[in-house]
Amino acid sequence: MKRFSMMLAVSLAVSLVVVACASMQSGGKDLVTRAVSAQGGADALAAVKTISYKATVRQWEPEQSAKAGGEMRLAGDSTVAAVTDVATGATRMDWVRNFQYPAPRTFTFTEIVTREAGYVAGVDSNGRTKQSREANPPAHSMSSLRLATVQRELLAASPLLALEMSKSPDRVTAAPSVTIGGVQYPAVDYRVGGHSLTVLFDPATGLPARVRALDYDNIWGDVTWDVVLADWQTVGTTRIATSRKYELNGRTVMDVKLSDITVNTPVAADRFAIPAPFLATARPAAAAGVPYQWIIRRQFIGTYLDSDQPSYDTQSSPGLKLEEIAPGVQHVVGGSHNSLIVEMKDYLIVFDAPVSDWQSTWTISAARGKYVRKPVKYLVLTHHHMDHAGGLRAYADAGVTIVAGQGTAEHYKKVLAAPFSRNPVMTASDLSRTSIVEVTGKHVLTDGTRQVELYVLDPNPHADGLLIGYVTDVKLGFVTDIWSPGAGPLPDKLNPALTSLVTGVKKAGIEPAKFAGGHGGTADYAPLAALEGK
Ligand SMILES: [Zn+2]
Repeated sequence: MKRFSMMLAVSLAVSLVVVACASMQSGGKDLVTRAVSAQGGADALAAVKTISYKATVRQWEPEQSAKAGGEMRLAGDSTVAAVTDVATGATRMDWVRNFQYPAPRTFTFTEIVTREAGYVAGVDSNGRTKQSREANPPAHSMSSLRLATVQRELLAASPLLALEMSKSPDRVTAAPSVTIGGVQYPAVDYRVGGHSLTVLFDPATGLPARVRALDYDNIWGDVTWDVVLADWQTVGTTRIATSRKYELNGRTVMDVKLSDITVNTPVAADRFAIPAPFLATARPAAAAGVPYQWIIRRQFIGTYLDSDQPSYDTQSSPGLKLEEIAPGVQHVVGGSHNSLIVEMKDYLIVFDAPVSDWQSTWTISAARGKYVRKPVKYLVLTHHHMDHAGGLRAYADAGVTIVAGQGTAEHYKKVLAAPFSRNPVMTASDLSRTSIVEVTGKHVLTDGTRQVELYVLDPNPHADGLLIGYVTDVKLGFVTDIWSPGAGPLPDKLNPALTSLVTGVKKAGIEPAKFAGGHGGTADYAPLAALEGK
C-alpha cells in the first residue's frame, strides 16, 4: 500500500512535470484550453450572454487591528446582487453593506461599471467626493483608479476568464508553476488593459484554481492578492465557481459565496445605464499606477475616497498644504488624513505618515521648504493602522527615528524588513536598520527649549499603544482617530473613544488649549472636557 501510494505520488509528480513542460512549450495555451473544456467547452461558454447571481460577502481588514500585527478586524457582512451583460462588458451590482468597523452602519448603493465608465448611485462611503455630497439623491462617477480596480477584480473572478484568454492567445504566456499547500499549480500570465494576472490551474480538474495579482500594500510592501475559486457548480451547460475567497499574502480577507446563479436571464439595457450627467464626469480607467490595495481595502471599511488622487478629493481640494496653527507648528491639511510638523531648534518632529509614501514625500519636501536645514529627525506614529502609518517608508528612507506606542516596535520592525520593490514612488532599499523607540507610558522629546510630550492612551477602544502628542509651550495636543477636532459638532455626551482621550489627558496632567487632528482640523479642548460626566 505504502509502496503503491509512493509510486502514485511519483507518477503524479512526473505527470505534473510533463504537463508543466508541455504547457511551457505551448506558452501555457494548453492549460487554457483544458480549463475551457473543464468549464463546459468553448461553445457552451460562448453561449453565455448574461450572468446573474446573488452573494454574501464577509470582509476582514488586517491593518485596522486593535493590536499591531494582531488579529484582523471584522470589517462587515454584505449582500450583493450582480448581473453582467457579456456583449457590452457592463456589470451592475446592488449592494447592502453592513459595516462593523470603524462604526456599525449600513450603506445601500448600486455600482454600474462598463468598459468606459463607472457610476455609484447612493452613499457607499464616509469619505465622499464633492460630487457625491452635492448630488441629490447622492451619486457619483467613479474615479479612474476605482474603475480600473473594479474592472480588474471583475475580470479576475469572471466565470468567462478562461474563454477570454483562449480568444486572446497573444496575451497569454507560460508562467512558472506555483506550489501552495503542497500542491503544484501550473500557471499562465495574462496581460490585458494594463492589468497583469497570473492564473493557476487545478492540476486534477484543469479548472482555474486561483487568480493572482502582484500588488503593493502600503504596510506590507510587495504582496500577493489571490482570488481562490472553489465549489464549482453546473449552471446550464457551464461550470461556475460559487466560492471566491480572497487572500492577501495568504490570509483570507474576503469570503464571497454565490447563490442563485443563472445564465442568459434577459436583463433590460437600462439596468446598465449611467445617467448622462454622471457619464459626462466619469473618468476612463487608469492605465497604470493604480494603488489597488488601497482602493479595495478602504472600501472594506466604507471609508474610501473615490478620487483620482488617493490623498485628497481633486474636486474640492487644490491639494495638500501647510497650515501654521502655532508658532513653529504646521498642520498638513487639505486631504483626508493629516500630519503635524513641529519645529525644534535643529530638527523637526512629524506626527503620522498617512495614506502613502507619495503623501510622505510631499510632507517631507514641504517641511524642507519651510524649515531649511532642519531635517525630520523623528516620525511619531500615533498608531499602526494602514491609513496613518502607510507612508512610513519615505521617512525611514530619510533616516528618521520612528517613535511608536507600547507593543508596536516589533510590528514596525517586520514591516520595514518587508520587500517593497513595487512601491510606486520609492526605489527599494534596506530600511531594516531604522531605529525605533517604543514609548511606555510617557516619552519626552526635547531640545532644551521646546518640549514635545507623548502619552500612551491606555486603555482606548481604537488601537493598543495609541499615542497622543503635546507641544507644551503652545499647549497644543495632537490626536488621531480617537477624536477628529473640528470635523463635526461635538456629541451630547462622551463616547468610549472620547472618554479615553479625556481620561488620558487628565492622567497625563497636561492642560491642552487646543487639539489638532489626524483627521479634521483643530478645535478647543475645553468644550470636549466639559462633556465629562454628562
Ligand atoms: Zn485608526
